Amino acid sequence: MKTLLSILVLSLIFASCATLNLAGGDGRICSLHNRGMQKSVIRVHYGRTCPERGNTDEYPNAKSIKCMGCIVDSIRYRRAIVWTCKSCTKAKRKHHLMN
Ligand SMILES: [Zn+2]
Repeated sequence: MKTLLSILVLSLIFASCATLNLAGGDGRICSLHNRGMQKSVIRVHYGRTCPERGNTDEYPNAKSIKCMGCIVDSIRYRRAIVWTCKSCTKAKRKHHLMN
């Protein structure tokens, strides 16, 4: 039973370390749409290229991937928490459907 509990505790510690929190504060307002944003969990990507396609002036708060570059670090985040705007996300989705 102790072993199972230890594995559970270590799993929880590891899981919490693997998430990078970039959404500080209580809330943010999208400067483009002037509406409240929500916290979203997005994927973290490592490497020279970034698969995130644009984050243009049309949808500044629609990040879906956090690119960390070629960081060699002891902590490799798997997820990040960021502020996202529903209107920006909708605009980004529409842009990618049209292109
Ligand atoms: Zn927005």
